[in-house]
Amino acid sequence: MEGLLDGATDLRVVIIGAGMSGILSSIKMTESGYHNHIIYEKSDQLGGTWRDNTYPGISCDVPAHGYTYSFEPNPNWSQTFAPGPEIKEYFERVADKYDVRKNIRFNESVNYCAFEDGRWTVRTTAGREERADIIIAATGVLHIPYTAPINGLERFQGSSFHSSRWDHSVDLVGKKVGVIGTGSTAIQITSAIAHKVEKFSLFQRTAQWVMPIENEMYSDEDKVNFTNSKKLDEVVNQIHQDFDNFSNGVIDSESAMMAELEAECLRNLEENVHDPVLREKLRPDYRAGCKRLIFSPDFYDAIQHENSNLITSGIRTVEENGITTEDGEFHELDVLVIATGFRPDAFIRPTTVLGRNGINLDDAWDSYPSAYMSVSIPEFPNFFMLNGPNSPVGNFSLIQIAENQLGYVMQLMNEIRLGNCTQISATSDATEAFEERRIEATKKTIWMTGCKSWYLDKNGIPSSWPWSRQQFFEEMKEPHMEAFDRL
Ligand code: NAP
Repeated sequence: MEGLLDGATDLRVVIIGAGMSGILSSIKMTESGYHNHIIYEKSDQLGGTWRDNTYPGISCDVPAHGYTYSFEPNPNWSQTFAPGPEIKEYFERVADKYDVRKNIRFNESVNYCAFEDGRWTVRTTAGREERADIIIAATGVLHIPYTAPINGLERFQGSSFHSSRWDHSVDLVGKKVGVIGTGSTAIQITSAIAHKVEKFSLFQRTAQWVMPIENEMYSDEDKVNFTNSKKLDEVVNQIHQDFDNFSNGVIDSESAMMAELEAECLRNLEENVHDPVLREKLRPDYRAGCKRLIFSPDFYDAIQHENSNLITSGIRTVEENGITTEDGEFHELDVLVIATGFRPDAFIRPTTVLGRNGINLDDAWDSYPSAYMSVSIPEFPNFFMLNGPNSPVGNFSLIQIAENQLGYVMQLMNEIRLGNCTQISATSDATEAFEERRIEATKKTIWMTGCKSWYLDKNGIPSSWPWSRQQFFEEMKEPHMEAFDRL
């Protein structure tokens, strides 16, 4: 990683969140002599998204060997796309190996940060107040659940919960279960439970493109082979090559890659959905990859199971014991799962963040969340974000992204540590120019081809990195210091 210095420093660093990027930050802080750092974690466990999301069938849609810290390869991943609990275990194991827990204050959420007299005042929900030189917000992208405002939802008398707050005390066997939504989450839930419940109803507003990628189990022999770093490198390099191809595809809606991908999804639909009426209901009317692509070898099997029911008429109202749709039909339910996604714009929220002269982050981000290179905000000195606004979200592995951003951020922190300045934040000019260049580039992307998705901000502009993966690495190598105000 770029930016690591030898020796030790007393600079106080507060990291918010003990998920993938918070654990990473703590490890790299220790390695680089920032021993005076702390992670505040709102929950009683680490793991971020993999702690919160425990729904049946959860797995990562990025291949496991590509969703791994570069410095902690894991030859023992059980399958191509690892299940959620295994990923959580991986983060726990890495955190233990690097003794990260001693730096975590669990059950303490940072609810207030203000830049006052050249340092940050940080307050937590436990009533603690402290002063910090640097803040790293490692708060994740999709951590605030979005419950769609569906008419009558509060009237439902059965069990109802958001997909990211799964109630494992509810036994689904013999129940009539409904799921609202057809994002990655709902599709994985469908594959996992449709055949296990008495009746399964999927409430679809928009059909999805489904890529039938198998989730192969690794054999014991594979795992032994992967302990040989050369063999593992071959697999990892192939994944990186695939990331390159995919990320080159999504940024150019006219690319052959996107056409091939759509053709393969279409073949999957035509060949594997047998009832022509159901096939038409499942046929998307927008370009493949415009929404996040679904990788599933078995969703079509699951939705064609005799217990399954795909409902495409809109939801009129939720009743005490089911849902009435716009066509007047009533669908009786014992359990209702809300899989309507997250608030991807709610970075760092609900924390109050006040920059220089009391400027509130909510006001700074009035039109939409933005940051220079996704990591630094004008007038919010020494405040850095990982996987922040407009980071690559639909392009490649969030772990690689966080590692590269942290290397970049640590070079900015070095400016303080080396005594070149005490405050550093992106200039407004650099941030505006970056956003102008970024927004222009989004016009060519597949995300702008006319669908609704969580990739789009409230102005309809993709909140993502619109250039190649290689360009991301290139630009993250070293900050252009003229883009930063240093006091
Ligand atoms: P999502 O992709 O935002 O999907 C939300 C779903 O809810 C959509 O189908 C949406 O329909 C539907 N919806 C929203 N409001 C509605 C309303 N008022 N009435 C009916 N339906 C409504 O959320 P998600 O599935 O939780 O996934 C979010 C992201 O999390 C994924 O894209 C992925 O990045 C990540 N994730 C990854 C994995 C994985 O790695 N395998 C698994 C789960 C999640 P419309 O399409 O019509 O808007």
